[in-house]
Amino acid sequence: MNSVTVRVPAKVNLQLAVGPLRDDGYHDLVNVFHAVSIFDEVTATAETGMSVRVEGESADQVPEDGDNLAIRAALALAGHAGRSYGVNLVIRKAIPVAGGMAGGSADAAAALVACNELWGLGLPLEDLMEIAADIGSDVPFALLGGTAVGTGRGERLTPLEVSGTFHWVFALAEGGLSTATVYAECDRLRQATGEQVAWPRAAEPLLAALRSGDAEALGAGLSNDLQPAAVRLRGSLARTLAAGREHGALGALVSGSGPTCAFLAGSAEHAGELAACLKAADVARDVITAHGPVPGPVVR
Ligand code: ATP
Repeated sequence: MNSVTVRVPAKVNLQLAVGPLRDDGYHDLVNVFHAVSIFDEVTATAETGMSVRVEGESADQVPEDGDNLAIRAALALAGHAGRSYGVNLVIRKAIPVAGGMAGGSADAAAALVACNELWGLGLPLEDLMEIAADIGSDVPFALLGGTAVGTGRGERLTPLEVSGTFHWVFALAEGGLSTATVYAECDRLRQATGEQVAWPRAAEPLLAALRSGDAEALGAGLSNDLQPAAVRLRGSLARTLAAGREHGALGALVSGSGPTCAFLAGSAEHAGELAACLKAADVARDVITAHGPVPGPVVR
């Protein structure tokens, strides 16, 4: 086999509960991850060295060197196997870059799956999950897909039972937001207001809505502790979120650390209508529809 292509989805956080700042600078999180049908594609081709090329959506903002998360994943996998394998990776991006939809983590997960296949390693998912956790806290979920609760830094995962399919509209913003900057702003806001930060817990009404496939209840239960910080850093998001609510979204929130905004619709048709309204309202760089949950990386 000379070449393997893997398709990998973006994620939205249905709940992102951020606990108190820990001594090591991280936060304990409860993160309800949900994989949605916006896909990057990673093609791994046998080569002597390690190289990466990025095409598509905002490709110019993605590093094409050892900082690329997909290359880091390939190197980590080769290290785990104890061999000096080579690979050329071509990433076709559709997931917005620095958009709070874990595009880089998705590419890392896709690279692990593609190189595992290309190099004939045959490692089981559990081994790939361990390597993934060392690359970044969102990478294990990117390998798993579907819907899952992540605890710790987000890397300890429990898959969730979900009935049916949910329909989403995503409003993509101009430029990204740095995840580290958004967390720092969240800490600053909490300190300034003297807010008592509770230990993060998964919201039972949200989990019940997922189990029963109740879109209205899910819309009411969406929450993101990073949202005030993201809106503070990017004031225009308040207008984007308000426009979605005014046009009948069942729920509206900033995805992860933003600046992408996610809106829940009642059906595929409703999602199409909502997307048209948001486009007409001119509150985003682009507006796309998607559905979830979808499976994790798939070899094509
Ligand atoms: P998260 O939701 O996990 O916080 P994000 O969606 O906000 O992440 P990414 O798209 O993953 O952000 O990118 C964050 C940064 O990581 C980018 O600014 C980019 O420089 C770097 N990066 C490294 N590798 C990649 C990659 N393969 N795709 C996208 N960004 C990458």
